[in-house]
Amino acid sequence: MAKFFGANDYMGGNSLTRSPQQTSMVERGILIKLNTARSPMKCVINRRAQFSASHRYWLPELSEAENNLRFGACARSPGHGHNYVLFVAMEGDLDDYGMVLNLSDVKRVIKDEVTSHLDFSFLNEAWPEFEQTLPTTENVARMIWQRLEGHLPIVNIQLFEHPELWADYQGNDMEAYLTIKTHFSAAHRLASPKLSFEENSEIYGKCARPNGHGHNYHLEVTIKGQIDERTGMIADLVEVQNVIDQSVVEPFDHTFLNKDIPYFAEVVPTAENIAVHIRDLLSEPMRATSAELHKVKLIESPNNSAEVYALSSTQAAAEQAERALAQV
Ligand SMILES: [Zn+2]
Ligand SMILES: [Zn+2]
Repeated sequence: MAKFFGANDYMGGNSLTRSPQQTSMVERGILIKLNTARSPMKCVINRRAQFSASHRYWLPELSEAENNLRFGACARSPGHGHNYVLFVAMEGDLDDYGMVLNLSDVKRVIKDEVTSHLDFSFLNEAWPEFEQTLPTTENVARMIWQRLEGHLPIVNIQLFEHPELWADYQGNDMEAYLTIKTHFSAAHRLASPKLSFEENSEIYGKCARPNGHGHNYHLEVTIKGQIDERTGMIADLVEVQNVIDQSVVEPFDHTFLNKDIPYFAEVVPTAENIAVHIRDLLSEPMRATSAELHKVKLIESPNNSAEVYALSSTQAAAEQAERALAQV
């Protein structure tokens, strides 16, 4: 573990050294107290960086046909590239200067340890690990974590391969998250069939107007899984994309949600209710892939969005029973 922050060092779960301020606290005998209670000055900061790199998904032990079948266009020789965007999240206490870390130090470390190696590189050959495991988004995020964890108090590595696909990695062995962003356009009307027009207008305002209105909905689906040691993947992305397309995008796109989606005949299609329904539609088919659903975020407009987390199978069964009971 390298030490480099000196006076701007942090105190936390993976603290490396003590700042002069903390040392004086030890002298005053209060460090133990600070370590047991979460400091009110704890703060997470983010630093963005970017690099452009190429990669190829190809396993030599597979035939050309098998590689093509498994990785599609990503198997093509000699490879293809992305403009990667990296967000490094770090947590720590504020120092005497009001900072968690000095950002010019952070910038230098990210450059020395990550971007100077990866920018304008062929990822498969950039780091020795990628001889054994493919440089997928989730796997590159994991390797970046490994390069930075000895230097920075990182709590999350988020790596965008492009604006509609990104990975999150939090240092939990082979566990990683992958988010796919997609969209559909649909109309809706916010009004309960059990209430009068006046009552609905009172609650939902303009959204209760009788003939509805529409949105270009953006949907972010996050899955969680274990990175495969050889393919570097938590799931077959094509399979996951198909589940999202078939369960949500195809049935929802260009519909009037209240009339075309049976669930919304009774349930008012607010962004929150749509997100819950999408989660319920995705949970089961996602289990057929090697990953599991983690979170659904529905962005209705730049001004509002709703997020719901996946339920465990016990929670899902309890919720279903509750709904069945409510209908009796
Ligand atoms: Zn790629
Ligand atoms: Zn609306």
